Amino acid sequence: MSDCIFCKIINGEIPSTKVFENEHVLAFLDISQVTKGHTLVIPKVHKENLYELTPEIAKNLFEVVPEISRAMKQEFNPVGLNLLNNNGEAAGQSVFHFHMHLIPRHGEGDGFG
Ligand code: 5GP
Ligand code: ZN
Repeated sequence: MSDCIFCKIINGEIPSTKVFENEHVLAFLDISQVTKGHTLVIPKVHKENLYELTPEIAKNLFEVVPEISRAMKQEFNPVGLNLLNNNGEAAGQSVFHFHMHLIPRHGEGDGFG
């Protein structure tokens, strides 16, 4: 989608700090990290939200999440990690290209939740 920020990140029109990439999935640091290492995981195909995902897209996304989580554990040594999706404006979605947040937790006072 031509006016989608995340599609622009996928095709390189907008720079990002990539943490993982394969044929179907891209993971990159959130521009406004709620904690150190806050990462977004997105499908390379434009799908607005959870309702639009096919089983194949969901499989492609979820099968790389453990690997990305382990890399984040290695890099940031968090005490915990939140995996979340804001689905729909009323749930806090602000970018309408499906994404999952991976939010490393660094203990009390880490700034999130
Ligand atoms: P949502 O509120 O839709 O669940 O999350 C959207 C996320 O995208 C926000 O955490 C926001 O900081 C992030 N974001 C918005 N624009 C950009 C951008 O241009 N680059 C990156 N890396 N993250 C972005
Ligand atoms: Zn998009």
